[in-house]
Amino acid sequence: MIIGKDVGGFLKNFFSNGASQAFLLEGETDELEDLLMRYLLCETKSFCKKCYSCESESLLDVRRYEDDTLKIEDAREVQWNAGQTSLMGAKVFILKNKHIAPDAQATLLKTLEEPHPGTYFILSSVPQAALSRPLLSRLTIFKRLAEEAEKVSGFKFSLADVQGLKQERGEAEEILNKLEVWAEDKIRNTPPERLEPYAVFVEDLYEARRRFFEKTYPPKMLLEHLAISKYYIDS
Ligand SMILES: [Zn+2]
Repeated sequence: MIIGKDVGGFLKNFFSNGASQAFLLEGETDELEDLLMRYLLCETKSFCKKCYSCESESLLDVRRYEDDTLKIEDAREVQWNAGQTSLMGAKVFILKNKHIAPDAQATLLKTLEEPHPGTYFILSSVPQAALSRPLLSRLTIFKRLAEEAEKVSGFKFSLADVQGLKQERGEAEEILNKLEVWAEDKIRNTPPERLEPYAVFVEDLYEARRRFFEKTYPPKMLLEHLAISKYYIDS
């Protein structure tokens, strides 16, 4: 589901027609994440600002995981905590991880298969393509389009740029993110018969992302590989 500027209006509408317990947020997620959490904590799922949960603004039942990678230990902790009764009303887990290890995904899937009523999960940084299909099928996807997406469509990135990089992970991560926005934009705007090279590139990109977060390859090497595949698509 794609969300425009009016996040509140969208959520109001969404919760008036039923519910979901697990969400994946994409695009510009900060405001969306905060509001969604408020809706979920509210006793009537409307962010009424009148019920006990809304009034108290208590975040006691919100648990956040914000490391780059969600590891198996974290996923087990989520599983265990999700099985406990909450202090007040709803319980919300916010998983703001850029990468979720495969074994952690499997544990998360088990947790999501039979969630306790009133327990909610918001995944907000991991890209869709990096999740296993069964896990993805359990998630309601909300996508807020980034306003700067258009600027990225002409994103230039070549081997020469990689050479100029310092060995900095932050810089490399920023490029990975830009490449993702760039590729998504291309995929949205390319006719199906010409999509294949971009689809292949996206697979490469997610593989590179996985290796980046698992720290199995030097960032520069991964970026060089991507710069070469992008060069073939652009030319
Ligand atoms: Zn309320």
